[in-house]
Amino acid sequence: MDGTTSTDVAVVGAGAAGLYAALVAAAEGAAVALVSRSPLAQTASYWAQGGIAAALADADSPAQHAADTIAAGREAARASAVEVLCKESPERVRDLQKLGVRFDADRAGNLALGLEGGHSQRRIVHAGGAATGRRITRTLSALAATNERIRVLEPVAASALATDGDGRCTGLTVRPREGGPVALSARAVILATGGMAALWQRTTNPRGAVGAGLSLASDAGARLADLEFMQFHPTALRLEGPRDGFLVTEAVRGEGALLYDAQGERFVEELAPRDEVALAIHTELERTGEPAVWLDMRHVRVERFPNIASALADVGLNPARDLLPVAPAAHYTMGGVATDLDGRSTVPGLFAVGESACTGLHGANRLASNSLAECLVFGRRAALAACAEPAPAGGAVTAPDGRTPGAPNEETRAALWRHAGLCRDAQGLAELRDDPYPLARLIGAACLAREESRGAHQRTDFPDTDDALDCMHSLLGSDEEPELKRWL
Ligand SMILES: Cc1cc2nc3c(=O)[nH]c(=O)nc-3n(C[C@H](O)[C@H](O)[C@H](O)COP(=O)(O)OP(=O)(O)OC[C@H]3O[C@@H](n4cnc5c(N)ncnc54)[C@H](O)[C@@H]3O)c2cc1C
Repeated sequence: MDGTTSTDVAVVGAGAAGLYAALVAAAEGAAVALVSRSPLAQTASYWAQGGIAAALADADSPAQHAADTIAAGREAARASAVEVLCKESPERVRDLQKLGVRFDADRAGNLALGLEGGHSQRRIVHAGGAATGRRITRTLSALAATNERIRVLEPVAASALATDGDGRCTGLTVRPREGGPVALSARAVILATGGMAALWQRTTNPRGAVGAGLSLASDAGARLADLEFMQFHPTALRLEGPRDGFLVTEAVRGEGALLYDAQGERFVEELAPRDEVALAIHTELERTGEPAVWLDMRHVRVERFPNIASALADVGLNPARDLLPVAPAAHYTMGGVATDLDGRSTVPGLFAVGESACTGLHGANRLASNSLAECLVFGRRAALAACAEPAPAGGAVTAPDGRTPGAPNEETRAALWRHAGLCRDAQGLAELRDDPYPLARLIGAACLAREESRGAHQRTDFPDTDDALDCMHSLLGSDEEPELKRWL
């Protein structure tokens, strides 16, 4: 690569959303540049254990999937986005099968559908037990690497977005690990940079999940939405050492695993939606001062979850014999770059998909296994819309001298855990407003603006849900105070 180059569509991020969007755009005939900072194994997509939610069973329907999604989202999910996801997700699962992903099947060859918290039907497709993300990303990345219309730029980081005089996104600056910055012009840029859960001290996510796309987008003038809604997963391993935060998928509770307190008593309905289970565990830990509660999967067929069994074996735990110490950890970013149902941000020519985007789909609490489905459904829609964007009017793009949005320091991560953790209040959140990390300040502002408790956002100073805020989403730009807006 030299100092300037061009493409039709630039996709930033090579998780499930970016890979799938790149393949769809290429199939439409576009020249695609796929920019990825990290190796494949460091994407959240690769780590995904549960599966993809899709109404594929005879007894199921997109309407039932939608009703479960809306109920889990605590009256804050955007109904139009939910409808799109639930209608299109079965077709996207079939697309993946056609592309070569082999999902787990029963003896008769029918897809084996799993149950997870908040779902009223068995509708989760898995691949390789709990290796769904790995199987999908491996297949999609092999296809992207051999597609003649896709130029894979790796390890290369996007460091700034370029905009023209009308505020239209015309490309981006990328920085290879070695060598100088390169200006890449494109008719459309699709951000697929994943979420920001690794901004929190305790997380299930890869360390690179620091919301780079949100920072790039807000620096380019795009609005962000729902930053107050960070989902905490209830059952992340609580250990000293590198396996701390390792996720034990909800699917094991779907297969009968139970949660016990320090006295060996059950204290929560294990298959309730995530916000409820996480809050119940948090309350239990606050009450007892214990570091963890106990997950009992001794009666679950462990061979169905080989990667969990092997991760546990690494730390000397045997799920057939031992109770597992678990506690909540930051897991999934419901907020993100505000987009419409075709991934368009508020900056023309700039799109966002997957966990970096916020269509409002998840409301205040994501339903399990809806995010891989979201990567595929909205990844495809954004790719089609991006291909229809007009070619840039000017010549070569002027590269802004951007710096790759870096990782926060440990003080910021500790501050987010302390002040924007499972329970928040105005006093702690006000401290975040002075944090040196810009995204932490925006998160603090969004959390302060929502003066109620709903789903993943629990304010001890506003413990009730305010019905007047049903369907309201918080929107803010880098220099703006949050605005609450109704999205239908
Ligand atoms: C442990 C775990 C288990 C999960 N299990 C499930 C599940 O079973 N079902 C489900 O639906 N969801 C699950 N999720 C959530 C789901 O995996 C994610 O929401 C989804 O995979 C996000 O995909 P993505 O493509 O948006 O982002 P990612 O997969 O995180 O990919 C982000 C990409 O962006 C790149 N990137 C970031 N910044 C830059 C930059 N500046 N320049 C260039 N590239 C950049 C990264 O290198 C990476 O390639 C799980 C998440 C985790 C962490």
